[in-house]
Amino acid sequence: MTVLTTHRPTTHLADYDKLGPTHQAHFNSFMEKADNTVDATEYAFLMAAAAYSAGIPLPLSGEIAKCACPHCYCSAIFDTAAPGLCIVETSTYGLPLIQCTDCTDEHPAPIED
Ligand SMILES: [Zn+2]
Ligand SMILES: [Zn+2]
Repeated sequence: MTVLTTHRPTTHLADYDKLGPTHQAHFNSFMEKADNTVDATEYAFLMAAAAYSAGIPLPLSGEIAKCACPHCYCSAIFDTAAPGLCIVETSTYGLPLIQCTDCTDEHPAPIED
């Protein structure tokens, strides 16, 4: 796998688009189940499984997300505890949909209240 170096530190752990179709399907399925569960132990397990599907170690925060940018098609997968993220909205299950740092820098979603 090629390691891309960028001009500034990035918090991106993986790129969804770079995963194979099987891994994408597993990742989606685990993330969807994590979004639907109210059980903390199951949630932690599903997050670990999603990270494994994306080929990355689960960050210390125990939580990863795929960029939910409403302005562009972005496939960054990142640690939800990383600094500089922007919460776009909250899902029906109360989990935040988050923009990655690049999107937050370039075109932050308007904060609704
Ligand atoms: Zn993004
Ligand atoms: Zn974006």
